[in-house]
Amino acid sequence: MTATKNQFNVNEFGYYGQFGGAYIPEILFNNVEELKNNYLTIMNSQSFKTEFDDLLKNYVGRPTPLYLAKNLSKQFNTTIYLKREDLNHTGAHKINNAIGQILLANRLGKKRIIAETGAGQHGVATATVCALMGLECIVYMGQADIERQAPNVARMKMLGAKVVSVTSGTKTLKDATNEAIRDWINHAEDTHYIIGSVVGPHPYPDMVARFQSVISAEIKTQLLSCVGKQNPDYVIACVGGGSNAAGAFYHFLNDLEVQLIGVEASGKGIHSGHTAATLTVGTPGIIHGSKTYLMQTNDGQITEPYSISAGLDYPGVGPVHAYLFETKRANYLSVTDDEAMHAVINLTQKEGIIPALESAHALAALSQINFKPSDTVVLNLSGRGDKDLTTYINYLDTHTHAK
Ligand SMILES: *Cc1c(COP(=O)(O)O)cnc(C)c1O
Repeated sequence: MTATKNQFNVNEFGYYGQFGGAYIPEILFNNVEELKNNYLTIMNSQSFKTEFDDLLKNYVGRPTPLYLAKNLSKQFNTTIYLKREDLNHTGAHKINNAIGQILLANRLGKKRIIAETGAGQHGVATATVCALMGLECIVYMGQADIERQAPNVARMKMLGAKVVSVTSGTKTLKDATNEAIRDWINHAEDTHYIIGSVVGPHPYPDMVARFQSVISAEIKTQLLSCVGKQNPDYVIACVGGGSNAAGAFYHFLNDLEVQLIGVEASGKGIHSGHTAATLTVGTPGIIHGSKTYLMQTNDGQITEPYSISAGLDYPGVGPVHAYLFETKRANYLSVTDDEAMHAVINLTQKEGIIPALESAHALAALSQINFKPSDTVVLNLSGRGDKDLTTYINYLDTHTHAK
């Protein structure tokens, strides 16, 4: 039932199988070393745990509910629970990690915080915790995303963050990440870079997964009290960089009877040239400091990703997912823009919950899986749809059939 060792966790060298590592410029070596040498000691200290747990409970609103979605269950003829990360303060799972990293930065004496953001959720989470802790906050965001996610840009500014518009490349998440790394190189001494997903050089992927692992820890406790067993048959989550999925999978990785399903964005279709389904169309390479799957041309140029969802529009994926994919411990599906939009409307009208466009990719994958009526399915609803309302309204206006 349970695997004997933690074969799916990072090893002492920072690798998941062949994936991960820390491929960084020399100038960042000391910062990454400092983090690597301290993160576990700090995270395991009693003072850290007390402060982290208190903020998750009283500031974020955890534990988030595990909601039995009766109408959705009926539709798919199985039992579906939604893990309600959408009910977190600031509207998504990103705050779990932002709080963890700000507490860590405090203990490392860093006074200046930088972050990259795609959908703006990580930027908002970071700006929020910086306001709480009184720290300077600079958020890098692609110009295209600034236009798609105006409400989140307004929030960040209101919270006192400086939002820097990035105009290189496709003006999206990858380009914002490059710019944040450049900033870190120039301010290596006093700055902590809060990476928003399980990507980047070791120890970030492991550190972020641990902060997000509260999701699967709660699922276990909650399932035990509502169905009398800790393990579901399926855990399903969308994958951009892969942090909400890594957190939802974390405590199930060694429980091999639990099927883990990650869902990527295939944009306009896998073969359309407009996709972000990294594990489906990508190959191994190095991006943003780690070895993982990425979308690239034969000569190693990164291919521009595309998804209607700003939070999934990334050409790489966390190294843990590359490893879970190669070892087949997890399965990865993909969902198009249109399928995701239909899933938004379906959940809204069936359960009265407007999901984030990212989370809707996980919802749309429900129809690709053959569930048994006796199955227990947990779907991680990573965020709420407020930030996507403009996209939804525009879509409904141009697709009248999807009333
Ligand atoms: C950022 C975001 C994602 C994608 O990021 P992961 O690291 O893959 O979790 C998914 N859902 C929501 C709501 C987000 O804000």
